[in-house]
Amino acid sequence: MSDQPKGVFIDDVEFPFDDSSSILAFTDKALGDKIIPTLCNDDNLNPYGACRVCSVEVQQSEDAPKRTVASCHTPIAPGMRIYTNSESVKKLRKNIVELVLSDHPPDCLTCEVNGNCELQDVAASVGVRQIRYAKGDNHCDREKDLSHAYMRMDLSKCINCSRCVRACDEVQGQFTLTMTGRGFESRITTDNDMLFGDSSCVSCGACAQTCPTSAISDVFQSKSVEADKTVRTTCSYCGVGCNLEVAVKNDEVLSIRAPQDAVNAGHTCLKGRYAFKFYNHEDRLTSPLIRKDGVLTPCSWDEALDFIKGKFESIKQDHGPDAIAGISSARCTNEENYMFQKMIRQLVGTNNIDCCARVCHSPTAWGMQQSFGTGAGTNSTADIPLADLMIVIGANPTAAHPVTGAKIKQQAMSGATLIVIDPVRTELARMADHHLQLKPGTNVAVLNMIQYYIVEAGLLDHEFIKERCEGGEDFIEQIKELDVDAMAEISGLDKEDVKAVAIAYASANNAMEFHGLGVTEHSQGTKTVMLISNLAMMTGNLGRPGVGVNPLRGQNNVQGAADMGCQPHHGPGYLWMDQKDVQDFYEDKLGLPTPTTPGRKIPEMFDGAVDGSLKALWIFAEDVVQTDPNTHHVVKAMQGLDLLVVQEIFMSETAKMADVVLPGTTFLEKSGTFTNTERRIQQVNAAVKPLPGTKTDGQIIVEMMRKLGLDQPDFDAAEVLKEVASVVSFFEGVTWEGLAASPMGLQWPVNKKGEDTQILHIGEFKRGKGKFHYHDWKESEELTKHKNEYPFILTTSRELQHYNCATMTRRTSNVQILTKDVIMLNPRDAKAKDLISGDRATLKSDRGQVTLDVEVTDRVKKGVVRTTFHFPEVLINEVTSGVTDEETKCPEYKIVAVDVLKAS
Ligand code: SF4
Repeated sequence: MSDQPKGVFIDDVEFPFDDSSSILAFTDKALGDKIIPTLCNDDNLNPYGACRVCSVEVQQSEDAPKRTVASCHTPIAPGMRIYTNSESVKKLRKNIVELVLSDHPPDCLTCEVNGNCELQDVAASVGVRQIRYAKGDNHCDREKDLSHAYMRMDLSKCINCSRCVRACDEVQGQFTLTMTGRGFESRITTDNDMLFGDSSCVSCGACAQTCPTSAISDVFQSKSVEADKTVRTTCSYCGVGCNLEVAVKNDEVLSIRAPQDAVNAGHTCLKGRYAFKFYNHEDRLTSPLIRKDGVLTPCSWDEALDFIKGKFESIKQDHGPDAIAGISSARCTNEENYMFQKMIRQLVGTNNIDCCARVCHSPTAWGMQQSFGTGAGTNSTADIPLADLMIVIGANPTAAHPVTGAKIKQQAMSGATLIVIDPVRTELARMADHHLQLKPGTNVAVLNMIQYYIVEAGLLDHEFIKERCEGGEDFIEQIKELDVDAMAEISGLDKEDVKAVAIAYASANNAMEFHGLGVTEHSQGTKTVMLISNLAMMTGNLGRPGVGVNPLRGQNNVQGAADMGCQPHHGPGYLWMDQKDVQDFYEDKLGLPTPTTPGRKIPEMFDGAVDGSLKALWIFAEDVVQTDPNTHHVVKAMQGLDLLVVQEIFMSETAKMADVVLPGTTFLEKSGTFTNTERRIQQVNAAVKPLPGTKTDGQIIVEMMRKLGLDQPDFDAAEVLKEVASVVSFFEGVTWEGLAASPMGLQWPVNKKGEDTQILHIGEFKRGKGKFHYHDWKESEELTKHKNEYPFILTTSRELQHYNCATMTRRTSNVQILTKDVIMLNPRDAKAKDLISGDRATLKSDRGQVTLDVEVTDRVKKGVVRTTFHFPEVLINEVTSGVTDEETKCPEYKIVAVDVLKAS
């Protein structure tokens, strides 16, 4: 038997065979360069083989005849001989490109499309300078579609490569674009031939990013303007942490695209890609302000900071340092958060420091810490393609974490089982194999039922439970006693549906869990997280790829703000502030005293401001008046303070109440790092200078630290990161240079050698053994007290187009796409209340009332109403309650007892 050839020959040079799927992929990888031209290929999309520009000649073996194949979809094989540039393929490619250009606008070869036209590049690479064929005019006169807020469609330039259609299907999973017609009549269209702006497009921009001719392009790209630099940075909206490539000219941001070599692999949502025009909006605050005679009045930086210093000193003298508090910002960088907590702890002298993790995922951090020993997500979104089952609990990722949501959608469309547990029929719920549309507030009841049925079906991973966990036996005995009929009644679910979910989850080889604020923002939020941890432990879905417990963190850097110590009980690196050795550790590291008394959580700060024990509050980039529950109480708290300092980019509802306003900067004007929901630390790099009159938030903090007596150099993110790495053990090997060299960022813990960790708890949990917890369901106090008078349950969540209180997105064209908050109301309730879509209705609770437009929809069940909190005109938190998670004081946004009344 002759020796089998081991390698592959590219133009007579041998390369070792590997598992690349196609000739094109193999050649690109082997040569480290793209020498084969293509038009319809995009590495992000499945091979398509339509344009044939990538044709090559191949021989299956040395003696085999040559044949011409499209390299993008012809499988590579050992012994294959590939001729990438033979005379015959050169001729073929040139001919194809000429034919394409013969039915393309006549000025194509000279037009300046964004300086970035692949068709022109390909034409040049195959040697086309003029076209031998008669000019066709089959589609060159197509009208432009300018109806979309962010994209332009000029199909006269379309070459029918279908890349946009495939990007819409394969990247976003939206299926808005399609190819219609045949032959010369073939053309791209949107669903039902609607105008682009009226279609089901979710504006992710994947089509514009892939289009090789700018037949679909971003509105921000100008034909005649080329950027003088591009800056790589990280999105400042949600916790997915997409990388962005920012094109800049003359210190102005022109456009944003998604780089390929990043966690988001060339994809973003509309917020990251398009909603950046807030950064230099005319509403930006551009001067420090001090309240004089009741009016916020411009002043110098020195005047503002000296005023704060004077107030701090007198309050400390009269009431002690614990009468002062700070709320840090999960929108700002790790380095800024680290310095802010250092200022509050070491210079003001109090542990009264918290951040918005309190109002979102504090139950996740605390619950997972008790189960596993660390509160962070266990796996990476890169694992999604490895999961054969995904369970999404209390989360709407296609709206709130869109790039992760799209990955989940794609995996479900690839055949993985999808389970959604949510009171609202979300986009994922519509496509799910199982949707448990439970009554809000019954997560614990439903998760207990799932655990019960897993035990009943004998689907426990006994080895994992025995080897890796503790408390398993007691837990199993307790769960066997569950009254499943009662729990089914309470949750409003059919117990057979719950049983099917339990069996599907426990039978999957790799089951990956995702959860959001629909889990945490409840009075039993922490307990729910512990039950989710139980589920993963009892089925062995931890410590390997494609599994795990994966919280979808809301704010871009909420993970980082907590990591940096912006919590009253934890200093940087999650060390307990009430322990003497921890206090000594920080004192030793920083050379500064460390406070020893327990700090206040955010709701306790508000209570303190109302009862007079808290006198001063510095709020760093949080709009608590609009976003925290029970607005009346928050407003009363702000009014009760002697000093309210707000560091902000816009005059937010909270800033309007401040004594001092300090104008900070956006992520586009500063450098540092963000840590995403997967523990991934990524660089933020300033694309433009801070607007005149503003300072970077780190610099503001440093200048205040100087006023408070600590000699400090100007803020330098790389230098602060060095200090962080010396204090926070899991940042040990993180350096500014190391991050710059890692386009995917580094997932903590990062060891001394700079090696990161994709998966936590391999072999052993952080706490040693994983711990089982049993918890009974308990009705929320909000319902026990108010359900008779207020019979509906209001639940709140976000829409794709806006971010939280929309301070940023409302100052972009996103307002053209989504203009207002509405109440979703079930058709039966609407009938009973004599309401139709478009009517106005008042939501009334024990705390207050708001009036909104009605949307009648069966996406919510009878008795449940749902709205968003993006617009200050509504201030939905006027009605939300002061009930909090029993353990972390995270507010219970997801359950509000309300009545719905027709507004006159
Ligand atoms: Fe930004 Fe999140 Fe959208 Fe990514 S998915 S672009 S991180 S908002």
